[in-house]
Amino acid sequence: MAGGDDAIEIIDNSFNDLIIAEAPLEVLYDQCLWAEGPVWFGDTNVLVWSDIPNNRMLQYVPDLGVTPFRTPSNFVNGNTRDLQGRLISCSHGGRAVLRTEWDGTITTLVDRFQGKRLNSPNDVVVKSDGTIWFTDPPYGILSDYEGYKSDQEQDGCYVYRFDPADGSLVVLADDFAKPNGLAFSPDESVLYVSDTGQSHDPDWPAQIRKFGVSGSKLTNPSVFADIDCGLSDGFRLDTDGNIWTSAGLGVNVYNPDGALLGRIKTGAKTSNVVFGGPKRNRLFITCSEYLMSIDVNATGLQRP
Ligand code: MG
Repeated sequence: MAGGDDAIEIIDNSFNDLIIAEAPLEVLYDQCLWAEGPVWFGDTNVLVWSDIPNNRMLQYVPDLGVTPFRTPSNFVNGNTRDLQGRLISCSHGGRAVLRTEWDGTITTLVDRFQGKRLNSPNDVVVKSDGTIWFTDPPYGILSDYEGYKSDQEQDGCYVYRFDPADGSLVVLADDFAKPNGLAFSPDESVLYVSDTGQSHDPDWPAQIRKFGVSGSKLTNPSVFADIDCGLSDGFRLDTDGNIWTSAGLGVNVYNPDGALLGRIKTGAKTSNVVFGGPKRNRLFITCSEYLMSIDVNATGLQRP
């Protein structure tokens, strides 16, 4: 089953306040190979996302449907927007973080650390000071399916902070197996980062970790949530600080204390989410070959 009107599972009663009981989970598109990286453009009412193995990006316009956005995309995965609203993308093929300029030209912001190529940037978020924080697991160089099969040049899979103002790139965390999704708390005092290392090591814990943010440093690492039903690939927060994350065949929602409140069952391996719509209360979900959406009773945190 993919989509439908029985998709909600209540685990904690407070989840009733975050969902619309009668809102259906709608399938908006079903022709991807692996959908990822949704990003909302409220100014143009467009949802853009990646179909990585098909080496393309697509766009969904409410009431109009789905059309190509960029083909080829050089295997873009995660997307977000910077302080000026420009599209920031993680490119597996380019092993780079890209910025799409107003005129459509594409700027490579960063593709190397200490002279060696990055692995394959996966997901990205922009802080309110304009710095770009991203994860760099190797999924885009392990095979030719999601990029170009290549040797890994970095000694590990790091979480990075890139400053476009001075071009500096620093490692924030170096003890993840495969860092993946990331997002800030509403006041940016906390950074959440997921680890999908279990994809290649069954003994590696499927977790979202939590860090304090102090300038350009991460402090006080702790486990925010152990994912009990698959991996957390990507996530977004609402204005109350709840975390809406992919987790196996659906979306898990955790409160800021790490308690699991409920699930949205997509029935398909789920990769990422983003809030969109004029009120930022429509949750778009990328999962396997699908783009889905469901109206919820939460407001997505404006990022940036
Ligand atoms: Mg990801």
